[in-house]
Amino acid sequence: MIEEKRLSKQLTNVSLGDLCRVLEYKAKIYGKKYIKIDSYYPSSQECSRCGYKNEKVKDLSVRSWICPKCGSYHDRDYNASYNIMFEGLKKYMMELK
Ligand SMILES: [Zn+2]
Repeated sequence: MIEEKRLSKQLTNVSLGDLCRVLEYKAKIYGKKYIKIDSYYPSSQECSRCGYKNEKVKDLSVRSWICPKCGSYHDRDYNASYNIMFEGLKKYMMELK
């Protein structure tokens, strides 16, 4: 718990750009692939199940929503993380072709 608080405080002192640079650098050192997705990709608005783009959830105060197309329940952060992961995998697969 204390360790989490310390890590959380350290992360708030680092800009997202700095974090990305460190991740890219570390990936290179350990022979891993670093894939950056478009910063304007609407990860929290897109249904991770059916791909429907729900512009009504642009407002950051909306923390969860139900997809009007497929009826899936989405927690904003989990849905965004799935979409970011799949977008990264899609980019990676395109690089392999
Ligand atoms: Zn859906």
